[in-house]
Amino acid sequence: MTNTQPKKVLIIGAGISGLSAACYLQMNGFQVELFEKHSIPGGLCTSWKKGDYTVDGSIHWILGSDKGSGFYKMWSEIIDLKQVSFYNHEVRMELEVKENINKYGSKIFRVYTNLEAFQNYLLDLAPEDEKVIRRFIQDIRDLQDFELPPVLDPLPLWPSIVRGIKMSRYLRFLYILLKQKNQFFTFPKI
Ligand SMILES: Cc1cc2nc3c(=O)[nH]c(=O)nc-3n(C[C@H](O)[C@H](O)[C@H](O)COP(=O)(O)OP(=O)(O)OC[C@H]3O[C@@H](n4cnc5c(N)ncnc54)[C@H](O)[C@@H]3O)c2cc1C
Repeated sequence: MTNTQPKKVLIIGAGISGLSAACYLQMNGFQVELFEKHSIPGGLCTSWKKGDYTVDGSIHWILGSDKGSGFYKMWSEIIDLKQVSFYNHEVRMELEVKENINKYGSKIFRVYTNLEAFQNYLLDLAPEDEKVIRRFIQDIRDLQDFELPPVLDPLPLWPSIVRGIKMSRYLRFLYILLKQKNQFFTFPKI
């Protein structure tokens, strides 16, 4: 007599990892039971109301808000992204630089999401670093040419070999990342 019951997997923790694992297991024919010690699922990926505000506990950005991107496709396997609103902020983050005050008397250093605006901001703060700033921004633009994650769909043997060869261009992705550690801004306020 064969056992036709689907195998059952017990998952401890209903954060984004446990929930995703549970979805994929069920999509692949497994039974799943999730155990969560908190009263609500989500783990670190949570938010709460404070007066008129919603406080996001963790996720402030995610890779894959662009419809054509690999991560968008990946998220769409388990989440209906059409139901999710994305806000594209002008400033990605603001850092308080304790020791330094810039030429405008501000201790705040901004990271703009728009690369042109970010470059202009950096050049304004530290024109003496023009060369390294332009190279840094160009490197970010070059990184944007790479689709992440690079591989999503399984392919038959030959197309997958061709794709494997094309993937060698991702070595440049690593090179760009690695060379960043040798790029120094001379201006201490940056
Ligand atoms: C301040 C902050 C900002 C972040 N910002 C971003 C961001 O902008 N973008 C981004 O992509 N990521 C961000 N992250 C990271 C992201 O939130 C986490 O990587 C992700 O939510 C982790 O999910 P997880 O399921 O692996 O773990 P967790 O969310 O930690 O889930 C673990 C779950 O297991 C439960 N659990 C633990 N022990 C037990 C037990 N014994 N029995 C039952 N249940 C148990 C916990 O209660 C929890 O629900 C941020 C994280 C933090 C803290």
